[in-house]
Amino acid sequence: MLNNEIADKFSLLSKLMDIHGENSFKSKSYSIASFNIEKIPDQLSEVEREKIFSYKGIGESVGKKIIEILETGILSQLQDLLIRTPSGVMEMLLIKGIGPKKISTIWKEMEVESLGELLYACNENRLLLYKGFGEKTQKNVQEAIEFYMRSRGSYLYAEAENTALSIDKKIKEVFPLYRSELTGEFKRQLEIIDKIEWVTTIPLISIKDFIETLGYTAEAEDSNKMIFKSPGGIRLQFRLTEQKSFFNTLVETSSSKGFLFFLKQQETLSTVENAMSEEDVFLAIKQPFIPAFLREDPEIFNKPPTQPLIQPGDIKGIIHCHSSWSDGNSSIEELANACLAAKMEYLVISDHSKSAFYANGLQPDRIREQQKYIDALNDSLAPFRIFKSIECDILYDGSLDYSDDVLSTFDLVIASVHSNLKMDEPKAMGRLLKAISNPFTTILGHVTGRLLLSRKGYPVDHKAIIESCAANNVVIELNAHPRRLDMDWRHINYAIKKGVLISIDPDAHYIHGFDDIRYGVLSAQKAGLTKENNLSSFSLKEFEDFISIRKKIKGI
Ligand SMILES: [Zn+2]
Ligand SMILES: [Zn+2]
Repeated sequence: MLNNEIADKFSLLSKLMDIHGENSFKSKSYSIASFNIEKIPDQLSEVEREKIFSYKGIGESVGKKIIEILETGILSQLQDLLIRTPSGVMEMLLIKGIGPKKISTIWKEMEVESLGELLYACNENRLLLYKGFGEKTQKNVQEAIEFYMRSRGSYLYAEAENTALSIDKKIKEVFPLYRSELTGEFKRQLEIIDKIEWVTTIPLISIKDFIETLGYTAEAEDSNKMIFKSPGGIRLQFRLTEQKSFFNTLVETSSSKGFLFFLKQQETLSTVENAMSEEDVFLAIKQPFIPAFLREDPEIFNKPPTQPLIQPGDIKGIIHCHSSWSDGNSSIEELANACLAAKMEYLVISDHSKSAFYANGLQPDRIREQQKYIDALNDSLAPFRIFKSIECDILYDGSLDYSDDVLSTFDLVIASVHSNLKMDEPKAMGRLLKAISNPFTTILGHVTGRLLLSRKGYPVDHKAIIESCAANNVVIELNAHPRRLDMDWRHINYAIKKGVLISIDPDAHYIHGFDDIRYGVLSAQKAGLTKENNLSSFSLKEFEDFISIRKKIKGI
């Protein structure tokens, strides 16, 4: 073992001790030891054991630890700390701008255990509430995590989008005589993108010359395929095809495995030539046209959509929005004006409830104050309307965060789980089903608590949740934040079948968070959602009726 490897172990030991809040005097001494060990001119593995203690800065305790490392290859105190540190917390050590002391606060006080969660916490302004974290630190941490995550291979759809569209535009400008189209995961509007794919008739050698000018290097190639990677970036894949089979290839590369298997069983597929569009390909195999975002389960051929699916322009109101009263960045007035500018008919303000202390959740007296403020704003903004709501924590036992007296003052309540996320399925289900059966729960917020690429979310039985929402007249949120997209589109179809309304909500903490609605819509399209099944597509009048009828039915 080399000195620098030994030094690394002491350095890590020191950092982990700080993260775990152990004796800071000792942790400092191991950090100094690490520094000293690197400076020793002889390799410690080659000197006599006794001599180790004679080097400058190596005392009794450090010397013994060095001998332990040399004899066993490990440092037991370090091993013990490693076992007790979640892998996501270890990863935080790789992020510039957060040292062990800050990581300790993030883990122990904010209860954040992974980089994805930390990124989301930055998005919710949660870091600002803790000692040692200012707006600047939060911004730096956010940027450093984004940079780090970009180098890991998998991306959120929203993260891949800019690269995909800008390269696509350039390709079309540089090679106007050839045909190229985006395909694969991106064309299917999947929430996670591992590589951005194109089908193209451009010779691969020309593609190579061009893509390399953008800073990508070729990673793999064969006669009809080429994959590129940028130094810290996403993979690009180009699939070469002949002009006459361009659209066949486009359909094939934008289908799930199961869907493609079904297509290939259609005898006529192999004979399709010179199709001029994707529609032509489906026509030739005598099947209804299925757009790429629905090319998942071949069952779709038995019930192709008969009504137009939801579009971003179908959203009429911003539901689920945080203001500066809790952890949002803008005043209610600014949010309302942004809604008006975006041609929205209403805004549902749903700040955090009192148990979400980390998010400056509202105590009952502040709710009264906020509601008065909203009343006054509504007088001046009519016919636009702001609805009084709350994102009410579902407590550990499944009850809501306020008494019925307080809950009855809201126009509607979004109930969400934000704490004690580590639950097994029976616990999670007990908690959620109790919250759904509460007459005040209007919308069930982000049902599993997942954060894509970082937190799986607690396990739930989606069918049982949907059935309970149907029985209790509760709307299910499709949280449109690109890191959530929760409920997952794969379950929404069943909700539609059961007559449960979905609500595509931005969960905005900033005005530009409204833009996330589009990601929710792209996901909802995959589930075959129409605007009639989506609460946030209701007009103001329809929304008001929905709320008042529901209140009457529930007797609240
Ligand atoms: Zn929430
Ligand atoms: Zn929220």
